[in-house]
Amino acid sequence: MSIMDTPTEINSVSWNEGKKSWEYNMVQVEEYFGFNECQQCRKPMSHNIKTNGEFKLVYVKCGCSRR
Ligand SMILES: [Zn+2]
Repeated sequence: MSIMDTPTEINSVSWNEGKKSWEYNMVQVEEYFGFNECQQCRKPMSHNIKTNGEFKLVYVKCGCSRR
């Protein structure tokens, strides 16, 4: 992976059960460790990153999750 492929921030998505809607949240990427792809559309579905000194798995919307 090259530096060019490393995002500096990710628009993460999570389901808000109370509001019954998707919520987006910009997450700053301190370190990037790669992503996990969707089994169906082969687009990134989650990213392994370090943000605010913590290791995190953040989810994004892949190509086939537009509902
Ligand atoms: Zn997909």
